[in-house]
Amino acid sequence: QAKLQQSFYVEYQTGLDEQHMRRLQIIESLKNAVEEKELHLVLQPKINCQTGSVVGAEVLLRWQSETLGFVGPDEFIPLAEQSGAITELTEWVCRESSKLLHQWHEQGRALKLSINLSAVDLLSDALPLLFEQLIKDFPDLPKLLVLEVTESAVMKDPEKAIARLETLKRIGFSISIDDYGTGHSSLAQLRRLPVEELKVDRAFVQHLSEDSMDKSIVRSTIQLAHELGLHVVAEGVEDEASWKVLQALQCDELQGYFFSKPLPISDFADYLNNHDVN
Ligand code: C2E
Ligand code: CA
Ligand code: CA
Ligand code: CA
Repeated sequence: QAKLQQSFYVEYQTGLDEQHMRRLQIIESLKNAVEEKELHLVLQPKINCQTGSVVGAEVLLRWQSETLGFVGPDEFIPLAEQSGAITELTEWVCRESSKLLHQWHEQGRALKLSINLSAVDLLSDALPLLFEQLIKDFPDLPKLLVLEVTESAVMKDPEKAIARLETLKRIGFSISIDDYGTGHSSLAQLRRLPVEELKVDRAFVQHLSEDSMDKSIVRSTIQLAHELGLHVVAEGVEDEASWKVLQALQCDELQGYFFSKPLPISDFADYLNNHDVN
């Protein structure tokens, strides 16, 4: 018995060490990911729920590390937040997104992009300074760039986060609450935030056509959000039946694998050529 326990303990220890090692390796490799050009963006189309046409895209980060291979954002983003590397990553995302929007604008394409901001980004002073620079080069940027923040990011330091969001809104950016429904705030509380858009978490959307409870939740969320003057996006639309339900519920915009997975930039350009765009 004692021996068994001991070998279990040793294995348990080794498991922990491996996890710990991987985390350290990720943090270390992230330090020069931008410099080594290991990052790229993928774009997931955002769709007008009523017409089905493309209105823009969400920008998502991908990392192909030379030493670690492909590492998903769910794994590296939290570590980047802990280590502080997130600031450089987000700056890179902002610059690249601004370049893309500028290009499209010059081609006469009225598309929007949404980017994800972490709690660290929201509270740091680096971001407003960067936006100031980017706006000098491209004054229409705030009209075209939507900033997604989760409610948990805001709740880390609500006072400071709300002040920052108000500044960003004053500059002209629109703010979206991401993963809505997974946190603990009510819509009434969130209404005090300077936000224009609500993204209903995919947990409520994925099984919408079979689950009457989910349907009730999404219906009442959309109704109340509209009464409060908010625009509603549903993410995780995986089949046509869910789209039809969301259409009947008067949802504004959609994202999900039914329309498209996140695409490399050149594939997104092809997608635009093959679909209606507003
Ligand atoms: P998120 O912001 O909620 O992004 C949506 C995630 O859902 C993406 O995963 C997307 O690929 C996935 N998705 C889209 N449609 C569907 C669908 O129909 N079904 C399912 N099952 N999934 C769908 P991804 O790209 O792996 O990103 C995961 C998370 O990592 C993001 O969740 C976001 O929190 C974070 N993330 C990604 N890029 C960035 C970034 O540039 N900055 C920050 N701060 N976070 C990022
Ligand atoms: Ca290197
Ligand atoms: Ca998001
Ligand atoms: Ca989300």
